[in-house]
Amino acid sequence: MRIVLLGPPGAGKGTLAALIKEKQGIVHISTGDILREEMKSGSELGHEVQRYVDSGELVPDDVIIRIIESKLSHDQQARKGFILDGFPRTVNQAQSMDSLLKKLDLPIDYVLYMDTDVDLLIQRLTGRRICRQCGAVYHVVNRPPVKEGVCDICGGTDLYQRADDNEETIRNRMDVYLSNTMPIVEYYKKQCKLETVDGGQDAEVLLNELPQPR
Ligand code: AMP
Repeated sequence: MRIVLLGPPGAGKGTLAALIKEKQGIVHISTGDILREEMKSGSELGHEVQRYVDSGELVPDDVIIRIIESKLSHDQQARKGFILDGFPRTVNQAQSMDSLLKKLDLPIDYVLYMDTDVDLLIQRLTGRRICRQCGAVYHVVNRPPVKEGVCDICGGTDLYQRADDNEETIRNRMDVYLSNTMPIVEYYKKQCKLETVDGGQDAEVLLNELPQPR
């Protein structure tokens, strides 16, 4: 199965991707996670992208396309199936991805568009917490860990808030999404690759209603 999760920040792409990964045993490729890892490690790439990520702006297409190219071309696991989360985010990225996947003979099954109400997105993003140790995603109201402050999965005790999950940056990320990423919806609709679901639903419900690979 090869799918792309498309939707605004806070639509639940990461949460759904983690469930699909667990159920199908395929690779979850999140460009946001890759960039945060690079920033954490202090690499040259991490320094290069930090200002974009912190302000909610998009990292330049050539940088992000290079990351994806290297991941899809060299990761043997990814060749067996993948979920792309947070990529593509511009029509240019989508076109580059299409030609890369054509070259690698790994066509996507479909693009899952997680259409979500803006008020719900803000509520989800401001309450989101992430386990620093294993990356599990929680929400202070909707999905708290069983024991406050402790990760259900790995027992880690540092559940942090992403630096770009503050109201000002969230607003900028929404604007960036509307002007740069929304046009991709039309792009894939024209290719008859788009499957639309209600991103307001629980990830478990969406997982059970996932369209079959084409
Ligand atoms: P995310 O974790 O998907 O919300 O991404 C966090 C941030 O990483 C975004 O606000 C962008 O600054 C950057 N980013 C992630 N994916 C991309 C992409 N495909 N193109 C450009 N920037 C990206």
